[in-house]
Amino acid sequence: MRDSTNEVLRAIATNGPVSRAQLARDLGLSGPTLTQATKYLFDRGLISEVKQSPSTGGRPATLLGLVANAGQVLGIKLADNHAVGVCVNLQSEILWSFEEPFSSRGEDAIKELIALLKKQSRKIKGQLLGIGIGIPGVVSPIDSGTADSAMLGWNNVNVGKRISDALNTPVLLENDVNTLAIAESLYGHGRDVSNFLTITLGRGIGMGLVINGELYAGSYGAGEFGHVNALAAGVKCECGKFGCLETVASSPAILDAAIAAGYLPKSASMAQLWALARKDKKIADELFTEPAERLGIALANVINVFGPELIFISGEGVEGWDLWEKHFKKALASHVVATMNKFDIEVDPWDDAKWALGATAIVLQASLSRNHRSNASSTEVKNRLRIAAKIDSHAS
Ligand SMILES: [Zn+2]
Repeated sequence: MRDSTNEVLRAIATNGPVSRAQLARDLGLSGPTLTQATKYLFDRGLISEVKQSPSTGGRPATLLGLVANAGQVLGIKLADNHAVGVCVNLQSEILWSFEEPFSSRGEDAIKELIALLKKQSRKIKGQLLGIGIGIPGVVSPIDSGTADSAMLGWNNVNVGKRISDALNTPVLLENDVNTLAIAESLYGHGRDVSNFLTITLGRGIGMGLVINGELYAGSYGAGEFGHVNALAAGVKCECGKFGCLETVASSPAILDAAIAAGYLPKSASMAQLWALARKDKKIADELFTEPAERLGIALANVINVFGPELIFISGEGVEGWDLWEKHFKKALASHVVATMNKFDIEVDPWDDAKWALGATAIVLQASLSRNHRSNASSTEVKNRLRIAAKIDSHAS
């Protein structure tokens, strides 16, 4: 696909049905170039005309939209004891979702994952473009699919290649916080924002950085927000360093503090902790003030460097956000440079399926993005999109 054709496909895929005039304006394309690009996409069954009546009445406008079922993508988010997934079409509409038990620390974890994905892929009618997998850990690089994850108990595990070989399908792996950030930038509130941060609170603390509309990946990974230093003389972290933000502000750190203080029994859950803190303001202050302040200061440091417009806060820990908010906002405001104190904060309720949707977004992005990190798997996804389109245009 030539560049302008890909641009047109990307614009239609991410913005929904759009008029030819709007496309030409947005992309700065001449009439003939646009006609050539749309003809290429029509011929391959990737786009179709959609009639839409204007709200003001009058003649319906003819818009260009994506042929949703020209391809399908599986996305899955892994946790240590279960996997949550979705199957979407090209318009990112969820066709079905699933949740399966999965033990990442089991001897045959990858075999188990392959069986699970095979079962789901058998349900797909038409072309499977690829599988996106969100991992709570470090993936490098995205298409070799090697994963390190303390949470899953994985050390240098070659997940991507094994699954790709077994299912004969492109597999793209990404850090799960990054999959959320990509989903926000393609389909969520981040669509109209060039620079934003996604933070996740919970068992770990993560960050996805979208800079100039693209996920910032660093050279050796990025967004290890849980491991910025929060206390000079802190306790040892899972990563081996001392005083990391996670040792103060992760869910297990706060729960451990509550248990050590004798407020809760050893087997207590976060839900019990939140319930207790909501009932007793003194305990709430004792347990949540420092984590909230440390999180606010750490985030202020990042904001001062990147100057984002928007901050998303998500993860299973946001169920207790009411206990963080006041102290967090105060610490944040007192450490952000005045000229940069213009960002909005949105707290997204916890939603496992959204992370899985994010995992499909890395595959869709590989097929639609202008300048994604180019590699063998994403090229294969693109090829499949073309094959899918051909099949679709013959069938219709
Ligand atoms: Zn650490």
